[in-house]
Amino acid sequence: MKFFIVNSGSSSIKYQVIESASETVLATGLVERIGEAGGRLKNTAFPGTSDELDSVIEQPIPDHRSGMQLVIATLTDKTDGVICNVAEIGAIGHRVVHGGEDFSGSMRITDPVLQALERNIPLAPLHNPANLDGIRVAMEIFPHVPQVAVFDTAFHQTMPPRAYLYAIPYELYETDRVRRYGFHGTSHRFVAGECARLLGKQLPECNLITVHLGNGCSMTAIENGRSVDTSLGMTPLEGLVMGTRSGDVDPALHLFLKQNKGMELEAIDALLNKESGLKGLCGMNDMRDIHKAAAEGDVRAKLAVEVQTYRTRKYIGAFMAVLGRVDGIVFTAGIGENDPIVRAESLKGLEAFGIRLDPERNWQRSKEARCISAPDSTVRIFVIPTNEELAIAREMAQVLRN
Ligand code: ADP
Repeated sequence: MKFFIVNSGSSSIKYQVIESASETVLATGLVERIGEAGGRLKNTAFPGTSDELDSVIEQPIPDHRSGMQLVIATLTDKTDGVICNVAEIGAIGHRVVHGGEDFSGSMRITDPVLQALERNIPLAPLHNPANLDGIRVAMEIFPHVPQVAVFDTAFHQTMPPRAYLYAIPYELYETDRVRRYGFHGTSHRFVAGECARLLGKQLPECNLITVHLGNGCSMTAIENGRSVDTSLGMTPLEGLVMGTRSGDVDPALHLFLKQNKGMELEAIDALLNKESGLKGLCGMNDMRDIHKAAAEGDVRAKLAVEVQTYRTRKYIGAFMAVLGRVDGIVFTAGIGENDPIVRAESLKGLEAFGIRLDPERNWQRSKEARCISAPDSTVRIFVIPTNEELAIAREMAQVLRN
C-alpha cells in the first residue's frame, strides 16, 4: 500500500509518498509560497529503475487546494510520476503540531477528531489552522481514503503532572489547559525505538535522553520507553537555545521589555521566536555558518555555540537526575546528526557521570545510526538520523491495523 504523507504549513505543503511494506520513499516534495507571488513546487521522484528525477513547477498557487492538486498531477504525471492514478494511495497521514490533551497517540481522522483539532487552535494558533487546511483539502480530494493524524505532542502525554504543570495558579490549567505539552514527539519516539534496537533491548526496558538539535531544539527524558519530561513547553519556545528561538528566559522579561522598550506583547513574542536563539546572539542561525565565522575569529559566533551547548549540557544533567539510570543519550536532527563540535561541547565535563565520548567515532562522518561513546562509557552515546516521515508511516500502519 502507498502512503501519502502531508505536512501542511501556513504557506507550504511538504509531502512524501512511501511504499508502506518496504518503507521505500517513492517521491518527496515541497510546495512553497502558497497564496503569495511566485508559487513553486519541487518534486523528487525515486522511480526505482533509474536515478532520481527532479521536477520544478513555478506558477501562482493561490491556496492549499490548488497546491495539493498540483502535487497529485505531478505524482501521476506520465513521464516522472511514481503512481499511475490516485486510487493507488491507500492512506494519507497528516503531521499535526498540537493535539493538546486530547490525543496521546495517532488517530484516524473523523468528525470528533476534527472538532478536537479546532478546539486546540488556541494552543497553536499559527500551526493547527494550517494543518487543518491540509486535512480538509485532502479529505475533499480523497473522500474514501483513510486519513490519519500524527501529533507532535502525543508522545509526551505520558508525562506526570509534576513535570507538565507550571507553578502558576492551578485554575489556569483547569480552565485553559495551560501546561507543558512538548513537541518533536514523533522524532523523539522514532530515535528512541532505533536506539533500543541498537542497545539490543525492547523500548519499554530503556531509559534514554533524546537530544533533537535542528532549527528547533528539544530534549526528552524517556523512562521505560515513555516520555516523562521534555524541554519544550506549552509552545515550542521553552528550553534549549534554538536557531531563532530563545529557549528559557526569565518570564519577567516581557514586563521589562514593555516598560523599558515600549514593546507590545506581539513584538516581544516575535523577538523571542524569530530574532533570538543563535541568531539573536551572533546574527546567524545556520550552525555551519556559525562554526565558519567562529574559526575566523568571530567572538560572538563562538559565544553562541558556548551558550547553546552549555544549555544543552545543563538539561542533560537535569534529565540524568530525573531518570537516575540512563542507558543511552541520542543525538539527532540537522545539528545533532552532523556536528561533532556541538556534541562534544554538550557532553564536556560529564565524565564523572559515566558519559565518555570516543573522539574518533564522534568525528567520523556517516549517515548511519551509530554509537559514538568510548568503550568504558557507562552511558552509551548514539547518533541516530531522525526520519519523521518514516515515523509517520509506521504510525499510520499501526492505526490502520487497529
Ligand atoms: P528543522 O528543525 O528545520 O527540521 P534540521 O533538523 O534540518 O532543522 O536542522 C537544521 C540545522 O542543522 C541548521 O542549523 C543547520 O546548520 C544544521 N546542520 C545541517 N548540516 C550540518 C552540518 N553538516 N554541520 C553542522 N550543522 C549542520
